Amino acid sequence: MSKHQVIVIGAGIVGICNAIAAQKRGLNVCVVDRLPPGEACSFGNAGVLAAWGCVPMATPETLLETPKWLFSSNGPLKIQWRYLPKVIPWLAKMAMSANAAQMERAADTLFALNNSTVEHYQRLAKEAGVPELIVESNYLHVFRSDRDIDLNQRAYRMRRDRGANITVLKHGEIRDVEPHLSPDYQTGLLIGPQGHTVNPNRLVTALASLFQRGGGEIRQVEVQSLATRNDNGVDVVTQSETLVADKVVVSAGAWSHRLLNPLGVRIPLEAERGYHVRFADTGVTLSNTVLESEHYVVANAMEDGLRLAGTVEFAGVDAPPDWSRAEMLKPVARAMFPDADLSTAEVWSGPRPALPDDLPAVGPCLNAPNIIAAFGHGHLGLTGAPGTAEIVSGLLVDETPNVDLSPVDPGRFV
Ligand SMILES: Cc1cc2nc3c(=O)[nH]c(=O)nc-3n(C[C@H](O)[C@H](O)[C@H](O)COP(=O)(O)OP(=O)(O)OC[C@H]3O[C@@H](n4cnc5c(N)ncnc54)[C@H](O)[C@@H]3O)c2cc1C
Repeated sequence: MSKHQVIVIGAGIVGICNAIAAQKRGLNVCVVDRLPPGEACSFGNAGVLAAWGCVPMATPETLLETPKWLFSSNGPLKIQWRYLPKVIPWLAKMAMSANAAQMERAADTLFALNNSTVEHYQRLAKEAGVPELIVESNYLHVFRSDRDIDLNQRAYRMRRDRGANITVLKHGEIRDVEPHLSPDYQTGLLIGPQGHTVNPNRLVTALASLFQRGGGEIRQVEVQSLATRNDNGVDVVTQSETLVADKVVVSAGAWSHRLLNPLGVRIPLEAERGYHVRFADTGVTLSNTVLESEHYVVANAMEDGLRLAGTVEFAGVDAPPDWSRAEMLKPVARAMFPDADLSTAEVWSGPRPALPDDLPAVGPCLNAPNIIAAFGHGHLGLTGAPGTAEIVSGLLVDETPNVDLSPVDPGRFV
């Protein structure tokens, strides 16, 4: 029976970043996933490296908007009514975390995880031989209404307090920045600096190859269960064999709780399903990431076309996609880019692994200290993966972290 120092479960962006960081610490690492690298949620995200992504989703402002979103057929949020009883406790926890003290604490933690994301990825992509996948850019939020933007509003103040540059743009200035956007947008906000990847899936596969070139092993098999051993190691039971490791990192995205629940580790993980639509050969370009603020839809220029991504749907991780949610993105694309050729469209759906307070679970599990949680990054998993990996790799070699891990403690909901 082969024994590994570390087994990472999950070959999404979080698992692969964890594996590389652990390997750099000199550890012998094996990644196990039932799919090839980057095929689940990490395949189709919007590619944003949100360096200033420090405002949690749960704020009084988003809670106030929620009823309106829920009752609108094309709003950014949908709960499948059959699933409502299951998700109510999660939503209640989310509402409870929308208080000033907890939001500020969450913002500090998100800032620590996310702020260096562009530098991390530039370094990793260079090592992997794919520097072209990381682009420096800004976030452009656009609004149809000609309104005065109060930069002291919570969502902007929290970013500015931590050092973000935010500039208000008036009508003509928006098209100076992004000439292909519709002239209907009256007001804009330019937030930065940050960046984006032009191909989230190719980024994961390139990093997975980097890990393999460094001697790392990737096994494609489903993990059925985990068990702690008397010698403090962990059994990783797969469909074909039992692997043994000194330590296991669970980065299994929206499925992570299924491996931990049987060990008595209870973490309220939900799948916030999102969708994208990709248009090839549109004839339009974008230099920055654009957020359409009415529909909460994000547009980025990818190397294979224009991608619009968004929507949150609670239906459970096993429910089949509701493709009408992806279809909703097409009229938004038409409104945003009136001159684009949108005739070639491809849709995709993936589950964001999300915890109610919008922070991931990172750290040793209660009663199973050799199993380290590293999942639940919600809307910012691509952004937060390298920052998380720095922390996780330190924990694997028993280094004391230099960030306060109590806000992301996997046991915080017990
Ligand atoms: C529409 C949309 C847009 C987004 N846009 C952005 C963005 O612009 N920027 C950003 O930072 N984030 C964004 N996100 C969020 C981001 O994509 C996710 O947070 C991130 O991909 C999660 O990565 P992960 O590695 O945790 O999970 P995944 O990529 O889902 O990987 C988990 C892996 O675990 C494997 N697995 C699970 N259970 C088992 C098992 N029992 N045995 C073996 N393998 C198992 C799965 O097969 C999977 O490969 C977006 C998400 C969506 C849906």
